[in-house]
Amino acid sequence: MTRLILATRNAGKITELRAILADAGLTHDLVGADAYPEIPDVKETGVTFAENALLKAHALARATGLPAVADDSGLCVDVLGGAPGIFSARWSGRHGDDAANLALLLAQLSDIAPEHRSAHFACAAALALPDGTERVVEGRLRGTLRTTPSGSGGFGYDPILQPEGETRTCAELTAEEKNAISHRGEAFRGLVPVVRELLG
Ligand code: IMP
Repeated sequence: MTRLILATRNAGKITELRAILADAGLTHDLVGADAYPEIPDVKETGVTFAENALLKAHALARATGLPAVADDSGLCVDVLGGAPGIFSARWSGRHGDDAANLALLLAQLSDIAPEHRSAHFACAAALALPDGTERVVEGRLRGTLRTTPSGSGGFGYDPILQPEGETRTCAELTAEEKNAISHRGEAFRGLVPVVRELLG
């Protein structure tokens, strides 16, 4: 069985990709970065989601000698020209402060009418092999931004993104409902043919 490593310490992401691989009949042994605690996290110095995902996947593949998957994601707001984009996790200046990031974004958009509040979550998922072979696939979840947060599930900007065709925000969906339509789900599902092609 081929071992595959996912560049994350987030158990939810590992479970999600493992289920997608299993549904596709792929029997690879997927482990998270926690299985190799001695390997340091990589700085995300790229300027696109794809560059950052590839940076992380290559670094992990080189360090472990295993095929490695990495993802990078964020929220892209049309009226802001695609921002926060790769800065989504640190939009307020404090990395990972979801509440401050969301509050700042809502304040910036306070004068923007509902018809101009389109946005999408974007995710790039990369697979890199120790020999330098690489592939990257992308996924999107399109919707509009509410003026006030709603719902207690999810994380990040979930309480303000209402997916197209939904009356609820992402934070009001169950994890299964969100995974079925999410940018990350789409990108991870896009990796299935890539894993089949490169790893058999
Ligand atoms: P990461 O690529 O998973 O580290 O996500 C980067 C940042 O993008 C997160 O900190 C969130 O602010 C935002 N983000 C990415 N995906 C989602 C999502 O599914 N829901 C809400 N926020 C997200």
